[in-house]
Amino acid sequence: MFKKILIANRGEIALRVIRACREMGIQSVAVHSTADADAMHVRMADESVCIGPPAGTDSYLNVPNLISACEITGAEAIHPGYGFLSENANFVQVIEDHGLKFIGPTAEHIRIMGDKITAKETMRKLGVPCVPGSAGGVDTIEEARKIADEMGYPVIIKATAGGGGRGMKVATSVDDIDVAFGTARSEGKSVFGNPEVYIEKYLQLPRHIEVQVFGDGKGKAVHLGERDCSLQRRHQKVFEEAPSPVITEEQRQRIGKTCADAVAGIGYAGAGTIEFLFENDEFYFIEMNTRLQVEHPVTEAIFGIDLVREQIRVAEGLPLSFVQDELVINGHAIECRINAEKVPEFRPSPGTVKQYHAPGGLGVRMDSAIYDGYKIPPYYDSLIGKLIVHAADRPTALARLERALSELVVDGVDTTLPLFDALLREDAVQTGDYTIHWLEQWLETNPEI
Ligand code: ADP
Repeated sequence: MFKKILIANRGEIALRVIRACREMGIQSVAVHSTADADAMHVRMADESVCIGPPAGTDSYLNVPNLISACEITGAEAIHPGYGFLSENANFVQVIEDHGLKFIGPTAEHIRIMGDKITAKETMRKLGVPCVPGSAGGVDTIEEARKIADEMGYPVIIKATAGGGGRGMKVATSVDDIDVAFGTARSEGKSVFGNPEVYIEKYLQLPRHIEVQVFGDGKGKAVHLGERDCSLQRRHQKVFEEAPSPVITEEQRQRIGKTCADAVAGIGYAGAGTIEFLFENDEFYFIEMNTRLQVEHPVTEAIFGIDLVREQIRVAEGLPLSFVQDELVINGHAIECRINAEKVPEFRPSPGTVKQYHAPGGLGVRMDSAIYDGYKIPPYYDSLIGKLIVHAADRPTALARLERALSELVVDGVDTTLPLFDALLREDAVQTGDYTIHWLEQWLETNPEI
């Protein structure tokens, strides 16, 4: 058993991991930038180490300082959370070279899935259905035009190293292709350090459905159903739920088995998410995330399991604590991502939280690291909390969400809370009848929220 784990992250996800450690009797070490000295994760951990100035590159992404923090505190393993270094294969390599344990998959699996072209090729070979597109990278505009002509417009040009909704450009006709190709390449290079791009058919009315998988690193794996993350803004998830309102039990078991078999086939260790677009009852793989997702609590709610605990157990070399047949869905769960942003522009709104009151009651979980008087720093992601509700069925979960939102108070900064109040009044949200484009279109026609 690990005695001490360092958490290379901040905010709600650092708290999330600290909580799992405490329940498992494991000491936790928080790291923080100078801007986060008063942060809740620092207060809640058993120990803390300052790892640098505010900028992420100097602190939460500073590998030598993170390794030093392990050496100083005697932490044996590192949990990366999500974002920051969670999908950085070189970081995993350095951790292992120092005799420490990374709580997550191997560097090799992160590398394969971090490059979207290699990921797609790997998944295709493992029998996972993929979005039609170029066979590998596309190097010239001429080649891009030829492929798009053959495939038919619209197409999407994606940076192989892209992430977080960046490095993707849609071309609706031949007139757009030069600009889309150039922009995707230059964004790939400037943001992710790799200009390589590939082309996919742009699906026009899909939902975003992702399958949670878990491998033991020794060839066994299970799936934990799907999450539906179709409500998106700028290719970023806003509202997530499990199970999906449109997936049948037969579809769930079929795609779930395909995904579990695929990760078992490569000996994958720990939590992973295989993302699909779902259109006309077909699944199309887009990418795999080799880490815990922001929206993992909806899966935890409906299966009644702790995914972080399971990650730690697998990193310790223990077998999975459940077999596929034991994983039975109970009810419905929904998560809202609450950002410190002013709607409708979604402009970041750092500042001091004057008053914070978290909702409670049956089936309500609030994962947040804010508190009365907390100063939201301007340096990091604007996510300040996740509200998760769980109930027997979708209509009850929606009613519970509305009730929980009515109790939640965040004063002093602008937040995206008004968006969720407005969304719950929409028929499409109530019935679950929307595609990945619905929210963007709704925002255009509802500029007053
Ligand atoms: P990222 O790594 O930046 O999250 P993804 O490949 O996971 O990128 O895509 C993010 C989102 O972009 C998807 O959920 C979807 O909304 C949109 N998208 C990606 N590929 C396509 C496609 N081929 N057709 C339509 N939309 C797409």
